[in-house]
Amino acid sequence: MRAAAFSPVFIIESSFVIFAPDSLAPLNRMLKLKIRSCFSGLSALAVALAMTGSAFAAPAPSEPVLVTAPVRVVFSPEESGVKAIGELVGRAQKEVRLSAFHFKSKAVAEILAAAKNRGVDVQVIIDPKNLTSTKCTAQILTQAGIPVYVDSEHRTAHNKYIIVDERYVETGSYNYSDHAERKNAENMLIIDSPELARRYLSNWDAHRAHSKLLAGALP
Ligand SMILES: [Zn+2]
Repeated sequence: MRAAAFSPVFIIESSFVIFAPDSLAPLNRMLKLKIRSCFSGLSALAVALAMTGSAFAAPAPSEPVLVTAPVRVVFSPEESGVKAIGELVGRAQKEVRLSAFHFKSKAVAEILAAAKNRGVDVQVIIDPKNLTSTKCTAQILTQAGIPVYVDSEHRTAHNKYIIVDERYVETGSYNYSDHAERKNAENMLIIDSPELARRYLSNWDAHRAHSKLLAGALP
């Protein structure tokens, strides 16, 4: 993975992820105060930690996370999301976890199948509404021996992220579909951060706990 042009600071509270590039360091204090005023849900603790640069270990899921990490940014269709995912999953050594809304990309399914075939523990959660349209990709996954779970607990299981080796997180607007690859305007972040990966793994595990394993004939 190539290093990012800057080291972003992530302040994460629930679903909010905010960047503050190094080039804006002199403005960080002002920026973070402004963020606090914009998002009432952002706790004073998060802002205090961001301002002081304090570190803390293994936060519980409900606590804010302060992360400084290299980030790869991919914009499609100018750049290939499939290529970036291939490079990310291709280096996986032990574990891949994926959560998808649209999962219609045969290329991404084959990347996951290849990882599974070389011994990586790969597991997937998908949204049930796209089950019919994901039949082809789901079959590639299941035939490779990848457990595919269906999350029906929400109006929409709209997450799109991949966690690799408890270290890398891929997320963004990019659905795992040919439209995202070739037609839509999408963005993708690949973040090298064990701290962030732990938070995403906790989320993945929570959704996995109420999901059902896709088994038998697909619709
Ligand atoms: Zn869920």
